[in-house]
Amino acid sequence: MLSKLTEQFEKFALRTNPAYAIKFLNRMPPALLTQIQLMKFRQTLRLASIAPFYAEEFAKRKIDVSKIKHPSDLGDFFTTGTDLQKYGAEAFLVGRADTAFETTGTTSGKPKRVFFSNRELAEMGRASAIGLHQLGLRREDTVLSAFDVSFWVSPAVVRTAFQYLGCFHTEAGKIPPEEFYERASRYRPTVIFGEPSWLVRLSEIAEKRGAWKMKFLFAGGENIAEETRKKVESVWNAPFYLNYGQTESFGAIGVECAMRDGYHRNDLNFFFETPDVNSEGFGELVYTTLTRDVMPLVRYRSTDVTRLVDEPCACGLFAKRIAKIKGRVDEMIVCGMGNISPWVFAEILREVPLVSDEWQARVWHEDCRDVVELRVETAYANESHVRDAVVKNIRENLSSRFPDFQKNLEMKLYDFRVCPVERGNLRTARKLKRLVALAAPPVDEKSAAKTATVKKTEALSANGNGHSREEILWVVD
Ligand SMILES: [Zn+2]
Repeated sequence: MLSKLTEQFEKFALRTNPAYAIKFLNRMPPALLTQIQLMKFRQTLRLASIAPFYAEEFAKRKIDVSKIKHPSDLGDFFTTGTDLQKYGAEAFLVGRADTAFETTGTTSGKPKRVFFSNRELAEMGRASAIGLHQLGLRREDTVLSAFDVSFWVSPAVVRTAFQYLGCFHTEAGKIPPEEFYERASRYRPTVIFGEPSWLVRLSEIAEKRGAWKMKFLFAGGENIAEETRKKVESVWNAPFYLNYGQTESFGAIGVECAMRDGYHRNDLNFFFETPDVNSEGFGELVYTTLTRDVMPLVRYRSTDVTRLVDEPCACGLFAKRIAKIKGRVDEMIVCGMGNISPWVFAEILREVPLVSDEWQARVWHEDCRDVVELRVETAYANESHVRDAVVKNIRENLSSRFPDFQKNLEMKLYDFRVCPVERGNLRTARKLKRLVALAAPPVDEKSAAKTATVKKTEALSANGNGHSREEILWVVD
């Protein structure tokens, strides 16, 4: 009875306009929210158990869903991105879908597909509208979005959020920042949405040609270095906020507030856990969807490393937070080039004459831009005509085999450097680490080798889901 009442209260709160919703939710006692979450969790679990994947897994593990009260009761059961790829989205379906989106990049190169209903889209739009209202977005604002619409979930979610907020909005798509700058001047947007590296490039143009009055800039899709954020903010004299989400989560898992100290998490739509943490409380974020009835996900491993922050935020918002993402547990790096994994470089190097299988890609941040450097061991690397031919070949392959990465290069979202080296230079240990994130630009080869030893997380023991926890990369900071 109490559960039903609280559910009605929450539904009522969310269906009012965002300003009232924030007021209502701010008054909701935290214990009540937890109660609603666990009630929704049990509903979700019962629903999910009819999906072929969960039915089979629960039977195999002798899990009786009627006895599960809390996600942790599921022990070492998790859903992974590999499960989505291996069994396909269809194995997770329990209801009729209206639409689907795909992950923008994965370690294997095979996108994950996730299905949704229009009702779910409306639900996520409402939650996002609350976050955007909190950041100051109002009916009188003009929003220009440069989000890439190709299979990406975020443009659809924010478009729905804009409808609730009632603001004017136009979709530019991910066009070159120069073109955007020209065309934006006729709309004079007060808020711009885009990917971080794209917004950095736009800001460089605005710095030279002039910025206009902005309320804020909003980015989703990748992380950003704090120095770069400050640079963008100084150009526009406006705050630059980040959103954190995944296609699997249907966009917003959390959004920053004016404090920019972690993301206020979406506890209304998700149950978050970090089952396995290090001494500082950081571990892989795992979430269960609470309001999805087409393709619910139970204990989905995000592969992102963060910390659940339950202390109240200085901004006073009811929603608790997750700390800034520390990195990924797999080898994917998100940067200005896009979402890159070792297979990308293997594909770029395929059939390049004189190049051996010994190669390594390094990523770092320099002068407000990501640098991707591909080091390849080459026969006759000291001869300039050989080096030139290798570099030319690799650049041609990048352009013809990865048009999206080429597009980002042309938009100057990152710098791509090819560095042929003599044989026997790269392998310093038994295993050659293919993709390495550096915390700072390499000073010279010797010190670079030292920095290239990626820091490893402490105290994160191996788990039963195939991630080697010793190889966790700290991509950021
Ligand atoms: Zn806050």
